[in-house]
Amino acid sequence: MEFDLSEDLEMIRDSAREFADRSLRPHAARRDAEEKFPTEAIQEAAENGFLGLTVPEEFGGAGLGNLHGAVMLEELNAADASVGVTISVHISLVCSLLAKHGTPELQAKYLPRLATGEMVGAYCLTEPQAGSDAASVRTAAKRVDGGWELTGTKSWITTGETCGLMVVYAVTDSNVKPGSGITAFMVERSYDGVSVGKKEEKLGLRASSTTEIILDGVFVPDENIVGEVNRGFKIALDTLDGGRIGIASQAIGIHRACLEASIKYASEREQFGKPLDRFQAVSFMLADMATELDAARLLVHRAAWLRDQGKVATKECSMAKLFASRACNKAAIDAVQIHGGAGYTKEFDVERYYRDARITEIYEGATDIQRIVISRNL
Ligand SMILES: Cc1cc2nc3c(=O)[nH]c(=O)nc-3n(C[C@H](O)[C@H](O)[C@H](O)COP(=O)(O)OP(=O)(O)OC[C@H]3O[C@@H](n4cnc5c(N)ncnc54)[C@H](O)[C@@H]3O)c2cc1C
Repeated sequence: MEFDLSEDLEMIRDSAREFADRSLRPHAARRDAEEKFPTEAIQEAAENGFLGLTVPEEFGGAGLGNLHGAVMLEELNAADASVGVTISVHISLVCSLLAKHGTPELQAKYLPRLATGEMVGAYCLTEPQAGSDAASVRTAAKRVDGGWELTGTKSWITTGETCGLMVVYAVTDSNVKPGSGITAFMVERSYDGVSVGKKEEKLGLRASSTTEIILDGVFVPDENIVGEVNRGFKIALDTLDGGRIGIASQAIGIHRACLEASIKYASEREQFGKPLDRFQAVSFMLADMATELDAARLLVHRAAWLRDQGKVATKECSMAKLFASRACNKAAIDAVQIHGGAGYTKEFDVERYYRDARITEIYEGATDIQRIVISRNL
């Protein structure tokens, strides 16, 4: 058993950390305040090879897996969770899906453009009536000559406004039980009939784009089907296992940022003639935060490693997301507490971490959905 990061994992960590320190952290608060999508940062991340991390080398990527993705995403999210979620969706829900389930032709068509950031990926599963109950999607795919016509509304789509390519789940057979007649389609944002609906005003991740995507008779050629017709929901669930590693990595990134900010503040701020970290109540909060961060990271790395070995890791991915997201939220609450009134203001980053942390318990399967998945796999 080996707990140290290998040399290449250390390289990914160091280059992601250097990029995050230089190009993300200094701008994160401003982008959050302005709700400005970080176009330049995403392009710079692409130039650094981060968008192509999970794209096979033959298509211009680094050909790396979930563990490398987890290590990179922790670093990016420790600096800016809005950039973090954009890249998490791109690598873990779009690139990995195509690399695992796409035909060689479909891979050749899109993976090189995803690797360079010419196209940023989005994942369109959720609909107004289909959140946790994702199998109840209603977006309809009608058979037409040479392909399918898609009509429906997808909600809460990360990078909905600025993406170039979307994975869209639509019903190709409505005469079977929910989940059995769904197909995954690759849909270009520029296709006729695709438009952006409501733009969400969010509590956190304010610099990321979250919108409705409206599909109005969008023609999608047969060649753009991922996997087999009517087998899309299986692909969705398999892909979400990997996506949960991404969101769990986001949680450990935000958690680590909370811990680092709290250690610094508690050593500098004095009350009753001594720094805050000399009070046992404060130092115990820091001890719990650090211990739970390590535990979360170990669960995340185990789940990522299992998936990289080609093993089914549904339970372990859900455990990692469940634990990491809850620990992150607890850390964010404690970080604001340690900062006192200062933590309640925008002068300190923990205010943003507190807002950003909240979503990690909701998307890609809310906390209780992870518990359902885990309990079914015991
Ligand atoms: C910022 C943001 C970005 C997102 N990005 C994307 C994206 O890129 N692509 C995409 O497809 N979707 C995306 N989503 C959607 C997200 O995945 C859903 O919000 C999530 O799955 C929960 O669905 P819901 O919001 O409809 O909540 P609901 O399903 O209505 O659930 C509400 C609450 O009820 C609980 N609940 C529901 N069913 C059960 C049950 N059986 N047992 C116990 N408790 C239950 C849930 O745990 C939750 O706490 C995003 C959402 C947000 C907020």
